[in-house]
Amino acid sequence: MSRLTELPRIGLTAAPTPLQPAPRLSRKLGAEIWFKRDDLTGTGLGGNKVRALEYLVADALARGSDCLVTGAGTQSNWAMLAALAARRCGLDPYLVYYGSPCEPTGNHALAELIGADIRFTGSAQRVSVDTTIDELADQLATAGRRPYRLPRGGATALGACGYVRASLELAAQLLAADLSPEMVWLATGSCGTQAGLLAGARLLGTPYRVTGVTVSRPAAECAERVAALTTQVTEVLAIPPTAADSGDVVIVDGYGGPGYGLPSGAGDDAARLVARTEGIFLDPVFGAKSMAALIDAARQGRIAGPVVFLVSGGAPTLVSMSGRQS
Ligand SMILES: *Cc1c(COP(=O)(O)O)cnc(C)c1O
Repeated sequence: MSRLTELPRIGLTAAPTPLQPAPRLSRKLGAEIWFKRDDLTGTGLGGNKVRALEYLVADALARGSDCLVTGAGTQSNWAMLAALAARRCGLDPYLVYYGSPCEPTGNHALAELIGADIRFTGSAQRVSVDTTIDELADQLATAGRRPYRLPRGGATALGACGYVRASLELAAQLLAADLSPEMVWLATGSCGTQAGLLAGARLLGTPYRVTGVTVSRPAAECAERVAALTTQVTEVLAIPPTAADSGDVVIVDGYGGPGYGLPSGAGDDAARLVARTEGIFLDPVFGAKSMAALIDAARQGRIAGPVVFLVSGGAPTLVSMSGRQS
């Protein structure tokens, strides 16, 4: 069917993650909402990055690497989970954070618990991480190590295969639940998750639209990245192109709030509503903002059929971002 099953993969995910109805939230919004619980992927405190790491760490091992080098911001779920996955497989984790040393909380505190070798770029620019990852990996190689380097977010074609696999998992659950959603709704950051879901939708010919809410970059840049990554994934997996509408890139803009990594008022309201109706936590950086967008779409009558909302993780940032009140 595709090359997916031939790729090396290590089992980090307690799959399938649950697909659950959200009856009280659905009644409030006047739209049928289901949750795909990828906050329960089963490594660390869960999250979507675990699915990407199944393929990425397997590739590192297949290439004979002995350490993993990646990075992001101190509250990055990606960086912490990459370090954790590295430990699960006996690789030494190296993390590059932008900015300057600060009091560790949330993901940063967990990365220290894991014993990751942490470096700061000293620059407030996110892109400073990219060059420092390369410099550090080069230094390690010169010192005789065999580093495996990964970009911020793990958004590579191979990492995105995690959500092609998740699409197959979801397809079986939709069949069992006799559910045909209009949309799969998610938060988009580095774009790998949306690209994997789109490639998966193409592979399966599913009729749902994959709708990403951008939380960290302008919509146009996001759409370009998703499209390019989706093409790369379909090439890696030899998925033939289709004319299906499900292949279209849909990005919702306007819910970033004060900026990437910072909680927004609308997001906090959305997270509160979901916690109080369904007993599920949405993280402030991704889940809360994408739910705020879904709530608006539902209230404005723009949702015609059932929606599967991807709960994508981020539990460590729930407790590291203080100052929010009920
Ligand atoms: C990284 C992340 C996302 C976004 O996924 P991308 O593949 O980077 O677009 C969404 N939710 C959480 C909790 C994340 O950590």
